[in-house]
Amino acid sequence: MRIHALDAEQALASLNTSAAGIHSSEAARRLAEYGPNHLEEVAHEHLLLRFAQEFTHFFAIILWIGAALAFAAEHFDPGQGMARLGVAIVGVIIINGIFSFWQEYKAERAVAALRQLLPQKVKALRDGEIVEILASELVPGDIVLLEEGDFIAADCRVIDAFGLRVNLSTVTGESLAQARNIEPSAEELPLHAKNIVLAGTSVVSGQGRAVVYATGMRTEFGRIAHLTQTAGETSSPLQREIARLSRIVAGLATGMGVTLFLVGQAIGLPTWENLLFAIGIIVANVPEGLLPTVTLSLAMATQRMARRNALVRHLPAVEALGSTTVICSDKTGTLTQNRMSVHQLWVGGAFLPCADLGMRAHLIDDHRELFVNAALCHNLKEIEEQGRHILHGDPMEIALAEIGRKMAGDLEGFSRLDEIPFDTDRKRMSVLCETPQGRMLYCKGALETVLARCQFIHFDAGLAPLDDAARTRLLAAQDEMAGAGLRVLAFAHRTVSEEGMPEEEQGMVLAGLIGLEDPPRAEVPEAIARCVAAGIRIIMVTGDHPRTALAIARQIGMVRSEQPVVVSGEQLRLMSPTQLQLALDAPEIIFARVAAEQKMRIVEALKNKGEIVAVTGDGVNDAPALKTADIGIAMGIGGTDVAKAAADLILLDDNFASIVAAIEEGRAVFENIRKFLTYILSSNIPELIPYLAFVLFRIPLPLTILQILAVDLGTDMLPALALGAEKPDPAVMTRPPRTRSERLLSWGLIARAYLFLGILEAVAAMGVFFFVLEAGSWHYGDFLDRHQTLYLEATSACLATIVVTQMVNVYLCRHPLHSLLSYGLGGNRYLQIGILAELAVILFILYTPAGNWLFGTAPISGTIWLLATTCAAAMCLLEELRKRWLRQAVQG
Ligand code: ATP
Repeated sequence: MRIHALDAEQALASLNTSAAGIHSSEAARRLAEYGPNHLEEVAHEHLLLRFAQEFTHFFAIILWIGAALAFAAEHFDPGQGMARLGVAIVGVIIINGIFSFWQEYKAERAVAALRQLLPQKVKALRDGEIVEILASELVPGDIVLLEEGDFIAADCRVIDAFGLRVNLSTVTGESLAQARNIEPSAEELPLHAKNIVLAGTSVVSGQGRAVVYATGMRTEFGRIAHLTQTAGETSSPLQREIARLSRIVAGLATGMGVTLFLVGQAIGLPTWENLLFAIGIIVANVPEGLLPTVTLSLAMATQRMARRNALVRHLPAVEALGSTTVICSDKTGTLTQNRMSVHQLWVGGAFLPCADLGMRAHLIDDHRELFVNAALCHNLKEIEEQGRHILHGDPMEIALAEIGRKMAGDLEGFSRLDEIPFDTDRKRMSVLCETPQGRMLYCKGALETVLARCQFIHFDAGLAPLDDAARTRLLAAQDEMAGAGLRVLAFAHRTVSEEGMPEEEQGMVLAGLIGLEDPPRAEVPEAIARCVAAGIRIIMVTGDHPRTALAIARQIGMVRSEQPVVVSGEQLRLMSPTQLQLALDAPEIIFARVAAEQKMRIVEALKNKGEIVAVTGDGVNDAPALKTADIGIAMGIGGTDVAKAAADLILLDDNFASIVAAIEEGRAVFENIRKFLTYILSSNIPELIPYLAFVLFRIPLPLTILQILAVDLGTDMLPALALGAEKPDPAVMTRPPRTRSERLLSWGLIARAYLFLGILEAVAAMGVFFFVLEAGSWHYGDFLDRHQTLYLEATSACLATIVVTQMVNVYLCRHPLHSLLSYGLGGNRYLQIGILAELAVILFILYTPAGNWLFGTAPISGTIWLLATTCAAAMCLLEELRKRWLRQAVQG
C-alpha cells in the first residue's frame, strides 16, 4: 500500500521502524544497502569536450590561421624557417590550451571544495536520541526532525506536525506554502498528499517529525534532478569585461597585422618576410592567457575569503563584494555575540536584578507562572552529547529556559500539546501545555505585540486590570531596560478550556518582563571603523526594539551623532518608496522592529539610489531580500538552509567582521587583476617595437616570433599569476568603494603599461641589442645572416634584457603608487617562485643546445647580463620617480 494512504503507525511499521527511530547498527546496514542519500551529479560538459573548447575559441582560431599561413609560406617559399614558426605557433596553442584548461579546472575545483565546507546536516532520531547527522547518511526508516527553514533531505511521511507548512516550489513550481498533517491521504500521487514532505523542498514554518521512505535518486527530486541541475556558474561582469577586452585587443592586433602587411607590400618588402612580420604582430599582442588567469585569481580570492570565514557561493560575488557601498546588517548574532544571559527582570511592578533572584524565594513563589512560561515556551531540542543532555536552539531561549527551569523547580505533570510558532511578523510565540492545574497557554514575545493581548497584569499585590496606568509603567520599564541595550521579552499566560488551542492569544495575564544582555562582538567596533574609513555605510536592520537597537549601535560606534534617524517597522509600512529613499539620505539611520519582509523594501530603495548593497539574513523570510541584494549574506551557524541557499556569501562564524574581511579581499582581487594586466601589457611594447624597427629601418630582426612566445607563454606566465595572489594592500580599506562605471582597464593603467614601463623596456632591449651589434663591428645597413653568431648573440641579448626588466617590473607592478621601498620584496612567496621559474626558463633558452636550437639563441656574456641589470635598475629608478611625482600630485 502507498505510504501516504497508511496511518502514521502503519507507515512506521511498513518501514520496519518506530517513532524512536532505528538503531544505529541498522542504519549502517541500510546505508550499505540503499547507498548514500545524495543525487548523482549529472555530468556537466564532458571534460574532453571542455578541453577541446580550449583549442577552438576566438584567440585559438586567430593563432591557427597564423600557423596555417606559416605552413603555406614554407610550402610556397621553402627554406625560410617558416615551418618551424608554424610548429611553434601550434605549440603555443597547445601549451596555452593546456594551461588555460588547468587554470579553469583548478578554479572550478577551488569553488567546489568550498561547498564541501558546509555540508547539509539533519537532526534525526537514532537509538531513541536526537542526533545531528549528515544528510547523505539518511536511510529509509530514519525519523527526521523538521523545523522552520530546514531543507528536507529525503522523501518523508509526516508523523508529527505543529503548524507545519512547506514550500514545494522546487518540485512542483507552486510557491504558496502548503500545510502538512499526519492524516492518511486518499490522493493518487505522493506529490499531492498532505502527509508527505519531499526532498529538495523546505519548511516554511512550524515543526514536525517525519519518517524517511525514499533517499537519493529514488526521491521525487532525484527523478527530476536531471532536468533541474544547471550547468553551474554564470560568468561575472568582470569576466565578461575581460573576455570583451581580450577580443577587442585581439581584433586590434589582427587589424594592425593586416594593415602593416599591406603597407609592407606597398613599400615593396618581400612577401614572406612581410607575412612573418604580420604574424609576429598578431601573436605578440593577442592576450592569450588573460581570461583563465582572471578566473583563477577570482577563485584564489574565494579560498582566501574562506580562510577568513566568508564562504563565497558564486564567483561573481567576489567582485560585487569589492564594490559594496552599503551593508545592511541585522543585530543579533552578527553585531552582537548572541550569547544571551538574563540580566534583569521586571516582576510584580518592580525591577529585580538577575543576581538577586536567589534571595527572593517568596517572590518566585508568587510569580511562578513567569518562570514556568520561560521554562516551557520555546523551541529548543534536548540533544544527548557525550552522555549529557544539552539544550540546542536559539541562545535567547536557552537562557530563558535555563533560568525558568531553575526557578520554577519541578515540572512534573507539565507537557506541551501544541504551539503557535514564532515569526518575525508576529514577534511572539505561544505554547499550549497540560499542567497539574489544567490547560494553560504560555506566550512570550515583544511587549508591543503581547500587551495588546493581555487583560490583566500580575503585580505584587495580585492580579490587577491592565489599565492605562499599568501600561504606562510597563512601557517605561521596557524603555529603561532597552535603553541600557537589553533585549526585552514580555511573558503572559492564561488558562484554556479543554477544547484546545484558542484561535488567538488573548485575554492573557501579563506576568512580567525579562531583559537579556547580548554583548557586542569584540571585533565589531574595529570592523565598523574600517567600513567608515573605506566609505562603506552600515545600516542596522533589526527586529529588536528601537531603543535596544540604538543603545547597541552606540556601543559599537555605528552611531555617533546625537540625533540619528530611527525608523520603526510601523513607520516603514506607511512610507512610500520615494519617502523611504529620501529617509535613506540621512547619514545615520537604523531600522528597528522591522519584519523580515520589510528588509527587501530597504534593499530595493538602496539599489534604486545606485548603491551596491550587501544584506545579512538568517530566516526563511529573509530569502527574498538576500536574493534581491547585490550580495546576500547568510549566517553559517544560525542561518536556515533556505537563507543559505538564497545567499551569495555565507559567514562561517556569523560575524560582521568577516563581511569586512571579505570586502577587503574583494577589493584586493580587483587591484591584483590590474597589477597583472599592467605587467602583461608592459612586455607587449618591447615585443612590438623590434618588429617596427625591423620593418621601418631595415635592421636585423631584434626579437624573433619564437622569442616573443617564450616571453608571453614562458617567462611572463608564473609571475603574472603570482601578482593575482597578492595579499590585500593595507590601504585598500581606506579608499572609497569603486564606482560602477570604473573600468578595469583605465587610461592611466594603459598609459603606465604601454607608454612608460613598456617603452622603458623597449629602449633597454633595443639598446642592448645594438650594443652587442656595435661591439661585433656591425654597421647600419650591413646584412646579417640569421645563423651568424653575432646575430644570435644580439637577439639573445635583446630577449634577456626584456626578461630581466620584466623580473624587476613584476615588483614595480605590486603597487601603482607606492614606492618599492615601502612594500619590499617579500610577502608573496608565489612571486619568488615565479621569478625562479622565469630564471630557469631563460637560462634554458640561452645556455642549452636544445634552447638555442628551438629559439634561435646563443649564450651571452656576463657583461650583457650586467648591462641588462643596469637597464632594469634604471627603469626601477625612473618608475620610483614617476610614482613619487604622482603621489605628490595626488596629495597636492
Ligand atoms: P535581528 O533582526 O537583529 O537578528 P532580532 O533577533 O531581535 O534581531 P527577530 O528575530 O525578528 O529579530 O525578533 C524580533 C523580536 O521578536 C525580538 O526583538 C523579540 O522581542 C521577539 N522574539 C524573538 N525571538 C523570539 C522567540 N523565540 N520567542 C518569542 N519572541 C521572540
